[in-house]
Order: sequence, then C-alpha cells, then structure tokens
Amino acid sequence: MIPSDEVRTWIDLARDDRVGEVFRLIFEESAETVRRERPLCLASGRCCHFEAHGHRLYVTGLEAAWFIDQLAERTNRLTIPMVEEARRRGDCPMLEDGLCTVHDIRPFGCRSYFCDPRAGWQEAAYERWHARVRALHEELDVPYAYGEWRDMLTRILEFDGEP
Ligand code: SF4
Repeated sequence: MIPSDEVRTWIDLARDDRVGEVFRLIFEESAETVRRERPLCLASGRCCHFEAHGHRLYVTGLEAAWFIDQLAERTNRLTIPMVEEARRRGDCPMLEDGLCTVHDIRPFGCRSYFCDPRAGWQEAAYERWHARVRALHEELDVPYAYGEWRDMLTRILEFDGEP
C-alpha cells in the first residue's frame, strides 16, 4: 500500500497552481494533437471498458489527487463503493450510459488512447506527457508513484478515513 505521507503530499499539492498548469498544458497539447492527427473514434468503448479489451489506464498519484480535487468542485460524485462497482463491471467509475462524465478533466492516458490503428503518435505523446508529470514530481520534490486508475483513485479516496 502506498504510504499515507505520500498520499497526503499529493493531496496537499493538488491545489498548487503549478500542478494545475502542467495538466492544463498537457490537455491543450493533447487537444491540438487530436485536431492535427484526427484519429478515428468508433466509440468502441475500448478505452473505458478495461477488462473486456485488455486495456489498463495508469496515472500518477499526483494526477489522481488533482483529479479528485477537481471533482470536488463539480456535481460528479465518486466514492469507494462506486470504484469497487466499476471494478466488478470491468470499466471506469466515471463512465455513465456509455459516456465519460469528466471529459474535460479526464487523465492524459485517456487522451492518448485511440483504437485507430493509424494513430501511431499515441505512444510517443503518452511518454512525453508522462515525462512532464514525472518531472513535476521532481520539481516539487514529491514522491512519485504510478498505478492503475481505480487503485489510485481508491487510495486517494480512502485517505479521508485515515487518522
Ligand atoms: S475517465 Fe472518462 S475517458 Fe477515461 S476511462 Fe474513465 S470514462 Fe473513459
């Protein structure tokens, strides 16, 4: 289990302007990349139905904490039972009626995953954005951890119940 002091550091930093700025720039770059590359999206659901398609979404602890902090300012609710239910279904807890309910704050891993076989730019884009977030951990001198989306969400959410 990820130690509580690491989780606390991510949560404390989630509101730091430097963190928000990095994600904002990555999201802008991803939108620009998608506009330029125009990958085909057939709404196959591969990106959000993880188990059915052998796909996994990974995030850093800081991205998970930033995401939860952003959610707190919206009407979206997310609880540990909701994450567990998504795990049983094999999909993402933010998926509702086949649609992403957090489109503008979805992880950069979602923004670089298209099942279009022509979209060969995805891996390099993901690595570039991941390297930027990893460098942010070093700049802020915070511990780095990388894990499966639902696991990381759970770890941030359960922190509230810790002494
Ligand atoms: S955050 Fe949105 S796009 Fe990403 S896996 Fe979940 S529902 Fe799909």
